[in-house]
Amino acid sequence: MSIEQTRIYPINTGWIKVDHGTYLFWKGNAGNDTAIPVICYLVDTRDHKIMVDTGLPDEARATKWHHDCNKRGCLDSPDAVRHLGFDPAAIDICLFTHLHWDHTHNMKDFTNARYICTAEELRWAHNPLPLYYRSYESPKLGIEAPFTGCDFEVVEGEAKIVPGVSVFPTPGHTPGHQCVSVETSAGKIVIAGDAIFLYENLEPNLDEQWRHWVPARFVNVIDGWQSIEEIDKRADYVLPTHDERVLEHDVFPFGGMPLRDKHRQVSGASFYFGGD
Ligand SMILES: [Zn+2]
Repeated sequence: MSIEQTRIYPINTGWIKVDHGTYLFWKGNAGNDTAIPVICYLVDTRDHKIMVDTGLPDEARATKWHHDCNKRGCLDSPDAVRHLGFDPAAIDICLFTHLHWDHTHNMKDFTNARYICTAEELRWAHNPLPLYYRSYESPKLGIEAPFTGCDFEVVEGEAKIVPGVSVFPTPGHTPGHQCVSVETSAGKIVIAGDAIFLYENLEPNLDEQWRHWVPARFVNVIDGWQSIEEIDKRADYVLPTHDERVLEHDVFPFGGMPLRDKHRQVSGASFYFGGD
């Protein structure tokens, strides 16, 4: 592998309508719909081709079971991979931040891939709290989840997946959520899944003295807060699933990519868990 040659390609699989205040920000602008993209990523280290999440299904299925979906011409992830000049059969790993519906569809089209997620996530995906039947497309609803019948390799805690690509636990949005850290020529790029929804989640809400303006969709906000502090400490650059600003670039890293000021202290909004 070569860190110099590692590239990350964002793949937008479509747009879904969500509530600004109940999904994107806690104490946010509730009651106002907004459309957000559903982005998965192709990581090419030369030696390995890795999908991080695999995105949305078609509009009808997404809209029927989840949120109003408009693909706006976006391709499903396997077609998008072809469009980028790669063969879906050449993807050797599908690495999942978590197993919610909008992160796992079409995974079986990556026919030669190993599927990897956390042990905790796999447990909850197969036996979700009823509140999350839709999120994991439980058979209780009479539908088949995208991961049904798939064999997963599970990781626990921090783990190296291949040289230059590792994972670390970021529970909160789901019990077994993890982020993917990719070494690149520009520094460490963290693919954040839904540990944050928007870049603003990493910024303070000074009115409330919150160092991070946490998202509103979580199973455990204490874990979720700690996970955001963890991302803030580690990432030179962050790639979330649902922030449209990602789409301003076709590939990462890009020339002149601005790096984050990691673990930046802000007066009036201190870190809760702290650390270095
Ligand atoms: Zn999501």
